[in-house]
Amino acid sequence: MIRAYVGLGSNLNDPARQVKSALAALNGIPETRCLRYSSLYRSAPLGQADQPDYINAVAMLETHLPAQQLLSELQGIERIHGRVRGAERWGPRTLDLDLLLYGDMRLESEELTVPHPRLAERSFVLYPLCEIAPDLEIYGLGGVQQLMAACRARDTLSCGVLV
Ligand code: ATP
Ligand code: MG
Ligand code: MG
Repeated sequence: MIRAYVGLGSNLNDPARQVKSALAALNGIPETRCLRYSSLYRSAPLGQADQPDYINAVAMLETHLPAQQLLSELQGIERIHGRVRGAERWGPRTLDLDLLLYGDMRLESEELTVPHPRLAERSFVLYPLCEIAPDLEIYGLGGVQQLMAACRARDTLSCGVLV
C-alpha cells in the first residue's frame, strides 16, 4: 500500500465544482482510496496573467496501483472533466491533476517525475498539503512546513483558503 498525494487545479467552467467533482472521482480509481482532502484554495494564475484565478486542493490517497498507472487514471479523470491539452503551457484548464508524491519514490522521466518538480515553489500546493499532512517530510526536500515558510517568503503569487 502506497501513500500518494495529488494536486488538483481548475480555472474554467465553475472551478470549485470541477475540483469537488474530481475529489469525488478519486474514490472511483481502482485499488485506491482517498483518505483525506484539503479545503479549496484560490490562487493567481501561473504563466499567462489574462486568465481566471485557480481553485486548488490536495488529496491524500492510499493505492495499490503502480505510479504510472495511477497517473493514467488521473489523466482519465482530467479527460472526463473536459481537459483539452492546448499548445499553451499553463494555459486555462477545466482540470489539472498532478501526482505530487508517490510514497518515497524518486523518478525522473518525461511522462512522470515524482516528487513533482515544482512542488516546493508553489504555495497553492504547499498550503493545502500542510493542511492535510503537516508532519510530512519529503525525502531530499525537507518538512512541508519549512517548505511552505520558505515559499511564502519568496512567492509573489497570492493564495488563500476559500472554503
Ligand atoms: P506543471 O507540471 O508545471 O504543473 P501542468 O500540470 O500544466 O504543468 P500538464 O499539461 O498537466 O502540465 O502535463 C504535462 C505532462 O507532464 C503530462 O503529459 C505528464 O505525463 C507529465 N508529468 C510528469 N510528471 C508528472 C506528475 N508528477 N504529475 C502529472 N503529470 C506529470
Ligand atoms: Mg500542474
Ligand atoms: Mg498537470
